Amino acid sequence: MFKNLLLPFLLTTVVQVFSQEKFYDNVLFLNSRMDGNYFYSKASYTSPSSIKNIDNKLPVSEDTFFTPGNSLQLDFVNGKNGSWSAKIDKPEWRGQDKLKEGEILSFAVNVSSATDISNLPAIQIGLADSTISQPLPVSRYFVIIQHGKWTKVLIPLKDFAGIKLKNSDDVKAVIFSQNSTDGNEHVMYVDDIEIRPSVLPALRSDRASISLANGYAKHVDIEWKPVTDTSVRFIKIYRSVDGKNFHPVGVQIPSSSRFADFTRETGKIFYYRISLLGYDDRESSASPVVSAKTRAMTEQELLTMVQEACFRYYWEGAEENSGLAKEDIPGRHNMIAMGASGFGIMALIAGTERKFITRDESTDRFLKIANFLERTETFHGAFSHFVDGPTGKVVPFFGSKDNGGDLVETSFLMQGLIAARAYFNKNNTKEKEIRDKITGIWNNVEWSWYRKEPETKFLTWHWSPDQGWILNHQLIGWNETMVTYLLAIASPTHPVPASLYYTGWANRDSTGQQYRKNWGQTDQGSMYTNGNSYYGIKLDVGVSNGGPLFFTHYSYLGFDPHYLTDVYTNYFKNNRNIALINHRYCIENPGHYIGYSDSCWGLTASDGPYHYVANEPILRADNGKIAPTGAISSFPYTPKQSMKALSNYYYNYGHFLWGEYGFRDAFNLSENWCSEIFMGLNQAPMVVMIENYRTGLLWKLFMSDPQIKKVANKIRHKQ
Ligand code: CA
Repeated sequence: MFKNLLLPFLLTTVVQVFSQEKFYDNVLFLNSRMDGNYFYSKASYTSPSSIKNIDNKLPVSEDTFFTPGNSLQLDFVNGKNGSWSAKIDKPEWRGQDKLKEGEILSFAVNVSSATDISNLPAIQIGLADSTISQPLPVSRYFVIIQHGKWTKVLIPLKDFAGIKLKNSDDVKAVIFSQNSTDGNEHVMYVDDIEIRPSVLPALRSDRASISLANGYAKHVDIEWKPVTDTSVRFIKIYRSVDGKNFHPVGVQIPSSSRFADFTRETGKIFYYRISLLGYDDRESSASPVVSAKTRAMTEQELLTMVQEACFRYYWEGAEENSGLAKEDIPGRHNMIAMGASGFGIMALIAGTERKFITRDESTDRFLKIANFLERTETFHGAFSHFVDGPTGKVVPFFGSKDNGGDLVETSFLMQGLIAARAYFNKNNTKEKEIRDKITGIWNNVEWSWYRKEPETKFLTWHWSPDQGWILNHQLIGWNETMVTYLLAIASPTHPVPASLYYTGWANRDSTGQQYRKNWGQTDQGSMYTNGNSYYGIKLDVGVSNGGPLFFTHYSYLGFDPHYLTDVYTNYFKNNRNIALINHRYCIENPGHYIGYSDSCWGLTASDGPYHYVANEPILRADNGKIAPTGAISSFPYTPKQSMKALSNYYYNYGHFLWGEYGFRDAFNLSENWCSEIFMGLNQAPMVVMIENYRTGLLWKLFMSDPQIKKVANKIRHKQ
């Protein structure tokens, strides 16, 4: 379980380079996602020196910035015999390890106080190995201070002494510190901290084009034609309320052709234009103006809005060659995540049915997907967790041992494909081809081979072509992997006996008990069954008090839990109770985290302030982080509570949480943190489970499969 959590241990072992991968600019600071203070900073001082801080972090300025919408404020006093320092760390997220090499540390500075050049701070860089360079006076790189104006400061990395810098990727922080003792207060703003090559292209495009703006309740979506000019660093977005006076509200990187501007106002016309910003800081002329009016929206319209935005992650945001889902955006451009792709396939179906795209567009995409999957490297028919889009080869992103088949990811993919095979039911060449190709892929998966030995009680998670069963992870429930057993039993070509459901998934002997105790750190639920009540809600099956909410989502996007009853419980009821326990826990909020309420709940697995982590409704597994997918993907179980959460996240937190693909992955108000990324595993379950709540579409499609129907009967009784 929680295979994603292996990341911190394994990531260091393998970083495979594929020549086609697009590289990101190496940015240390561009904007703070949150108002107030900047999460990835640390300010400290000893009197009589000081530096202004909020909770020991640098203040964020929304009034003064180089790139919209904000910059960092350094408001300091250089006292005699005192000191101050301000450290700005590079935010890191999954897959953002393909960075352009550079030789120059570059940042924008705006000195607003009447500061003499000699009173500017010193600067150091901090490396991945925690070593820190010797301080350099910033003044050395200034010719003259233009007070109240932005200046770019360029420092060759080779000027930083006392460190062994091999790759510019290794620069993980910059540190400003006191460098004089004049005793006065100084204020300067810092923005756009990055490592850049010494030679940068001059902006080639002279004009931007803009397609349209769409108004929603509190935001406007702005779209433009994809920008292919590689000399463009950003698309800069300007907003106006009168059509005449425009001010910049944000920047977008060229790999995206969309910007969500959260205006916070309903029933108002907003005007937009965009321009292109070059690496040379030149700006193109502005696009024509488009406008849109924000409008009050019903709950039904809000649901559709969330579905469409999250759907776009898999439609516009897909990896180009395969049409499948990336692990996260921003993240690796070329890497496909197979489980997320299976979820995304179901989101594409929901989006087709809701007419976000035409059936023809959808058919073409699914043909592309099916053609790609036919050619993708498999291991006894099972797909890998991560695959390189351009080549179809395995990417051992979680480490060199994870270079083969992943049966759980394969089952998430197959869940989506089986729903797609039922959806594309028209009697035409293209749809027939999709069905036939999916049947071929499904028939190829050797589920029974993943028992490791013919007579074992369990399915095994991974197999490596050169290291065999080295990861040796037996699949034991209850967690997110139920559908793996269900599909293995359903397979028309390589099935496992239905008895494996009870001997493996619901195993009750010492192997199963120990496995559950290890992850739950409790005896509760170690027998698969639980039987305790939490907040007055009885839990039939589940470790601890039910675990993270993704357990109730991943296996049930297609498999309708209403039809899943074994000798211990019915899984719609059990899932609903797990969601209710999670909801009640967040209302009681024993950790006293900011924001938790009946409209801000749902602990599950997501990106976090420090790394990806699965949170649960127990104190030791709760760090104040909420992922919108937790409550929203629980819609079929808890429609009222989920709607309250969705509304709260959009109306009250949308200014930091809402983006071009819907809600960002997670936020933590106690830490004043919001994720920079959208995750493939988390956006699609929102689309699919809202759809299952509204129409039951994906459940109906998946359950219409004759082989799937039979499974539900096979596990009803113990064999
Ligand atoms: Ca900025």
